[in-house]
Amino acid sequence: MLPASASTGPTEDDWAAAVAAVRRLPADARVLLICHVNPDGDALGSMLGFGLGLRRLGVRRLQATFPGPPEVPESLRWLPGFDDLLVPAVDAYPDPDLVVCFDAASESRLGELVDRLDTAGEALVLDHHASNTGFGRIHLVDPRAAATSVVAEELLARLDVPLDADTATCLYVALATDTGSFRFEATTPAVHQLAARLIATGIRPGDISRRVFDTRPFGAVRLFGEVLGRARLDPAAAAGRGLVWTYATLDDLARYEQQPYVLESLIDSVRCTAEADVACVLKQVAVDEWAVSMRSKGAVDVSRVATVLGGGGHRFAAGFTGRGGADEVLGRIRAELDGALTGS
Ligand code: 5GP
Ligand code: MN
Repeated sequence: MLPASASTGPTEDDWAAAVAAVRRLPADARVLLICHVNPDGDALGSMLGFGLGLRRLGVRRLQATFPGPPEVPESLRWLPGFDDLLVPAVDAYPDPDLVVCFDAASESRLGELVDRLDTAGEALVLDHHASNTGFGRIHLVDPRAAATSVVAEELLARLDVPLDADTATCLYVALATDTGSFRFEATTPAVHQLAARLIATGIRPGDISRRVFDTRPFGAVRLFGEVLGRARLDPAAAAGRGLVWTYATLDDLARYEQQPYVLESLIDSVRCTAEADVACVLKQVAVDEWAVSMRSKGAVDVSRVATVLGGGGHRFAAGFTGRGGADEVLGRIRAELDGALTGS
């Protein structure tokens, strides 16, 4: 069953339960923070920012981790807390006193770490996906929040943890990432008010934005050139709203000596296509396996399409893992896009 917070956000009882779960931890408690596989700025930023806050509360035995390959984009490796809080998944406490999950809409996003929901003494979930399945025990899930870091900051405030520059840096990266640098619809007055509180700690938004969004290896610049050069526009797709798409193979990455994570921002260069409501990037992860990113300008709810195809996400940004050849995966996307618009 979905938690009550699935549509309305956390209740006062939810907040009280979360605060109590942290406050009642014994001095030697082991706390494990987990964010979703292939972590992005919101996943890592909300997790590390909250972790630094917990440390200020005196929590000493504290680990942060995520499932899958232990690789993080260079653009996020400098985050405060990265070196001293993050551990590989294999080293994560097997039975922590408290587990806290960040930015994961479903248990599947926790990969091999999902068992901690059962082995931990208490399980707290911080998230902002409307599609959150209600896993875990205490739910701070607010689909109206622009980023999971909005929820993390409120919990820190309710725990009376003052914001310092390191915590603020992590939370700011998370907020800037999920609002597309304060450009998306979710950029409410509350988002700017939170950004103001974070910037008031003395952090430098210009430096942060350049490191997170505007820095990539030259090989990646050239790789983008090739992959964008093969983009295709299909104006008839999505019941005439238009689809633009491209793909990148493991061979492309190898030729330019690039890591898979450099492709995470590729969708942003594709989705600006004026003639298409929907943009799609297929990123090969293995033979016949593709990580698919989808974006919509508004006519199509891409989370609906991604969910039908085994993934999930938000109305304007969603994804799933597609199996088979790129053309096959694209065929399934096209079929679902038409269905999503005609309501069938
Ligand atoms: P991105 O395209 O940036 O990888 O992901 C956009 C959004 O889609 C993410 O915030 C996440 O909510 C969702 N998403 C992406 N890939 C998957 C997936 O494989 N499974 C699920 N459940 N959600 C995904
Ligand atoms: Mn998020």
